[in-house]
Amino acid sequence: MKITFHGAVEGVTGSCYLIETSKGRVLVDCGMFQGDRTVAAKKNPVLDVDAKNIDAVVVTHAHLDHTGRLPLLVKKGFSGPIYSTPPTKELAILVEQDAARLQQQKFEKYGDPVLYTEDDVVPVEAAWQGRSYETTFELIPGVSATLHQAGHILGSAFISIEVAGSETKTGKKMRFVFSGDIGNDDVPILPSTVDIGPADVIMVESTYGNRDHESPKERGKSLINAVAETVNHGGTLIIPAFSIERTQELLYALDELVDANMIKRVPIFLDSPLAIRSTAVYRKHESYLEFDRPMTTSPDHDFFTFPGLVETLSVDASKEINRHQGAKIIIAGSGMMTGGRVQHHLLHHLANKKNGVLIIGFQAPGTLGRRIQEGAEKVKIFREEVAVNAKIFSLDSFSAHGDRRKITTWVQTAEGLSQILLTHGDPETKKVFKEYMKEAGVKVSIDIPEFKQTIEF
Ligand SMILES: [Zn+2]
Repeated sequence: MKITFHGAVEGVTGSCYLIETSKGRVLVDCGMFQGDRTVAAKKNPVLDVDAKNIDAVVVTHAHLDHTGRLPLLVKKGFSGPIYSTPPTKELAILVEQDAARLQQQKFEKYGDPVLYTEDDVVPVEAAWQGRSYETTFELIPGVSATLHQAGHILGSAFISIEVAGSETKTGKKMRFVFSGDIGNDDVPILPSTVDIGPADVIMVESTYGNRDHESPKERGKSLINAVAETVNHGGTLIIPAFSIERTQELLYALDELVDANMIKRVPIFLDSPLAIRSTAVYRKHESYLEFDRPMTTSPDHDFFTFPGLVETLSVDASKEINRHQGAKIIIAGSGMMTGGRVQHHLLHHLANKKNGVLIIGFQAPGTLGRRIQEGAEKVKIFREEVAVNAKIFSLDSFSAHGDRRKITTWVQTAEGLSQILLTHGDPETKKVFKEYMKEAGVKVSIDIPEFKQTIEF
């Protein structure tokens, strides 16, 4: 059997692995390349796999960089089943519908390619089947999969794929683990990542292979600081947030601070249709979540809403926000500030030093978010130049990815491991992570595959 690395190799996006045996072909994830707009516009239309010849797809989690090109795959002729946990299916469909709308907008604004429309998402939903954690199912003859709790977002899984001995070079049955994205420790609303168990080869994400995070326990304190330095002086605090998971964790943290009167009461706008719709999926699948405080601590028995929260679903409601004078908090996507409503708010607020931007997620190189995070004095938004005078706060206690310590500890829960393949990370980070793992006592060979490289097992 062979594995080819079709994405998330030269960076952290576009996750896509092709598994080939004599009986068929399976994809693990089929994600969108994100980051620099022009690079993404070039890479995304090109599917390096023959869609008609793929027999099944199995998906780790709903984020766009893992699911965003499934409608393109179906459009190009894929007609097999797609498998994931039930919440992943629901969130991913929202993500893909949102992506379709965003592509239309970018086409109108910049002439970027439209990969698919909202109509193209309909057959994707029809092909998608939910599977429970820890239940093994067949993908193609001789190849089966099991989903395990990854603790990254609602419904997220790492996947172990077992390949029959008749398909491997050694003639022995082999187990391959695809990490997807692995969550941090102590995430206040999610179960912990489970141990790996038996595995011959692991494909491991390395997003934060060069860092240690602040503990999620620091979130409350840091949020209070950012709010105090802006909102308490009449300013506006903009929080660019990824719509899935980061936003719900932020709402959960704010729910506690507002209920306990630990931050000034100001309007808090949730200005993201995708985040609003995703939060409803979180409520629906509460049994997949694990809260670190009892529901009785929230007077309204809902951790994702609190007094002062205003959800702005429509464009008109969103535009109203900028007519609101005075202190406020705006949570809006996209998380790396590359599109979406947050760009309008940045354009209105960046020049005033009373305001602030609170960065709570990874900012890929080439994105507007990265430029602001690195201290750019001026940035361009919608071809307009704007001075960055607002205070910039960066918190990594909200990271949805495990840091190098967490991932290394997790890798060490594998039994019988012979090889680690590092993916899903910036090139320099992967090299640093490899050294870190060796120093931490990981004995097996650690390799860094290249884009489109095929490895035979
Ligand atoms: Zn993710």
